[in-house]
Amino acid sequence: MELLKRRIEQDGKCYPDGILKVDSFINHQMDPQLMYKIAEEFARRFQDVKVNKIVTIEASGIAPAIMVGYIMNLPVVFVKKKQPKTMENMLTTTVHSFTKDRDYTVCISNNFLQMDDHVLFIDDFLAYGNAALGMIDLVEQSGATLAGMGFIIEKAFQDGGNILREKGIRIESLAIIDDLSNCKIVIR
Ligand code: 5GP
Repeated sequence: MELLKRRIEQDGKCYPDGILKVDSFINHQMDPQLMYKIAEEFARRFQDVKVNKIVTIEASGIAPAIMVGYIMNLPVVFVKKKQPKTMENMLTTTVHSFTKDRDYTVCISNNFLQMDDHVLFIDDFLAYGNAALGMIDLVEQSGATLAGMGFIIEKAFQDGGNILREKGIRIESLAIIDDLSNCKIVIR
């Protein structure tokens, strides 16, 4: 997706330990026009796949997921990072946060992730795949089907992409970063 790649080249900032900051257009301030185009691209790439629900994890995945849900006319479910006392039929899993370097428990109500669901997971980044593996665990617990996973940015020098593709999961990443060393952003 050329528009996204150009924006990353222009406004992305690289940090130590392989972190790419895109705070000015995705993670802190968001550019809704760009995000809409990102969502259109996800909808185009997954048009051949049977999907009835978009799922994401709080918080950065919510914006793209909502726009994909709007374009595909499908409901959007957020996996939550805090466990509300009132959640019915809670499913939980543990995810390691790459950026915060800690484990946290995420949850989703089984009411909104059911056996007959075909789920498209949308998130901002694919790094080591921990969030995605947590999502796979929740999908398995619920008995739903994982139709595919879409990431705005995949960092190919970390392992997530390989782990997920080896599992046979359909992955679509709109921009793939091959290298961030020496503070140079190398986009495939
Ligand atoms: P993973 O679970 O694949 O290891 O990491 C993905 C999650 O960590 C994403 O949901 C994203 O929030 C965060 N993340 C991982 N790498 C980066 C990065 O380079 N930049 C930003 N802004 N977030 C990242």
